[in-house]
Amino acid sequence: MLKINNLHARIQDGAEILKGINLQINPGEVHAIMGPNGAGKSTLASVVAGKEEYEVTEGEILFEGNNIIEDAPEERAHKGIFMSFQYPVEIPGVTVTNFIKAAINENRKAKGLENMSAKEMLALVKENSEKLSIKRDFLNRSLNQGFSGGEKKRNEIFQMMMLNPKLAILDETDSGLDIDALRIVADGVNSFRNEGNAVLLITHYQRLLDYIEPDFVHVLADGKIIKTGDKSLALELEDKGYDWLLN
Ligand code: ADP
Ligand code: MG
Ligand code: MG
Repeated sequence: MLKINNLHARIQDGAEILKGINLQINPGEVHAIMGPNGAGKSTLASVVAGKEEYEVTEGEILFEGNNIIEDAPEERAHKGIFMSFQYPVEIPGVTVTNFIKAAINENRKAKGLENMSAKEMLALVKENSEKLSIKRDFLNRSLNQGFSGGEKKRNEIFQMMMLNPKLAILDETDSGLDIDALRIVADGVNSFRNEGNAVLLITHYQRLLDYIEPDFVHVLADGKIIKTGDKSLALELEDKGYDWLLN
């Protein structure tokens, strides 16, 4: 599904941050990326999603066989790549449901499809809000306005489930991720994951991997993947930290 070959990227006109990343993600897999602060984890997520402040200087990102490096973020989203918003914007007057409906229909339009019928949309909202224990009054609130950390998380995961991407990239940078928020993310990812999609889960916290069982764990340090293992690597990291890998 995703194949990253020798990816180098920098901040526009700035220092190189990614220094030769190789990564392959197949359908049905969950990959966790861990690593010390400043390693380039969020940059990797942003570069795959196509954020414009970064420039790819070498290498390729193949999504379903096609290099997407020249694609705008929206095109990548239309192809089925979802990235959670690290700092979600507040949109007064636009409800949680209306925002996601608009996103779904925009996606369909890009594929030449008509808007989803109201009936189908309602069924989808019902199905996914029930899975995440989201109440009706939450769905009718203005997007992100006054949301608690847990509510932002819940909204993010709801967006992921509603959009049903092929590849979901979740960057769990928030140091305030409490146990409730961890559970929301974990329940969402576990109900989302199936044989046809894939998840790239970026996290500082081994704890999240107690709830989400990754197929692969990668350690990113100084812009490179320096070690890959299975879930036992996450336990080893919790135990020993990163220093033993860095020299
Ligand atoms: P991580 O998510 O692993 O903590 P980041 O990808 O956020 O690491 O950052 C990697 C390095 O790149 C850090 O030194 C960070 O300061 C720098 N960096 C990332 N994005 C920017 C940016 N937009 N402007 C300036 N420096 C950046
Ligand atoms: Mg960081
Ligand atoms: Mg980060």
